[in-house]
Amino acid sequence: MDKTRERDTLRAFTDRLRGDGFDARAIVSDEEMAAATEAFHREEGVLDTPAEELRYIEGLLNLPMGHLERFSIVPAAGYARCACGRVLSALDLVATALRRRVHDRDLVRDTLLGLTNLVELADGGRAADCFSCGRAVLSSSYWTHGYMYA
Ligand SMILES: [Zn+2]
Repeated sequence: MDKTRERDTLRAFTDRLRGDGFDARAIVSDEEMAAATEAFHREEGVLDTPAEELRYIEGLLNLPMGHLERFSIVPAAGYARCACGRVLSALDLVATALRRRVHDRDLVRDTLLGLTNLVELADGGRAADCFSCGRAVLSSSYWTHGYMYA
């Protein structure tokens, strides 16, 4: 099979990482991350986090204002909009991770600084609480500069 075509989809990219023996996370080259980022944005249902919520995330994590240029997510089927009306964004994920202490705040901050091209391999989607009402929401993948869960 043509290797270039194979990597046209996000699934092909993550399958290749699993095939290479990565089971939870991988650090990839700038070239691989660029190709995976393009593939991510070709997925159906990609939502961009609104600018004011990017600023809110920066505030939560003490990141330099304006550091997060783009943070996109693909909600799991049926989760693009919460029952309360809120559209799912990266803020739901980040706020939940901090509140539940899923990860230490500095680790989340370092990850979103985006220096490492970290790919976390998805394990059935990432659950979070709606930022507005607390209902359970689910995303299947998300991406920001230097970091991807897929
Ligand atoms: Zn809600």
